[in-house]
Amino acid sequence: MNTPDRNCLECETKLLGRSDQKFCSDQCRNAYNNKQNSDANNLVRNVNNALRRNRRILDGLCKGEKQKVNREKLIQKGFSFQYFTHQYQTKTGTVYCFCYELGYLTLNDEEVLIVRRNSENSI
Ligand SMILES: [Zn+2]
Repeated sequence: MNTPDRNCLECETKLLGRSDQKFCSDQCRNAYNNKQNSDANNLVRNVNNALRRNRRILDGLCKGEKQKVNREKLIQKGFSFQYFTHQYQTKTGTVYCFCYELGYLTLNDEEVLIVRRNSENSI
């Protein structure tokens, strides 16, 4: 019976052992797993950084509880619209995206409304 060639996931050496073998050695297994972990750590770090940057940008632009700003301004400052911590839906169905206590709502192609959530207001 022909089985397809299997290679070590780390160094690509041809594997001759059990069919579920993935690595030629413990060293390769460790090297591979360490790399996987650091990729996951990097992703978490990058997302955390993006969320913190988003929060800082919103905080800098929103002087009071609400502030209408130009969408272009957010983009220029490096805002990433795909990253937010949670969403909030109002009774009327409007969905705000939040980066921690600061939320935003795209009003149209040009304008974004920034809102600041605190203990006194509901948004
Ligand atoms: Zn190997």
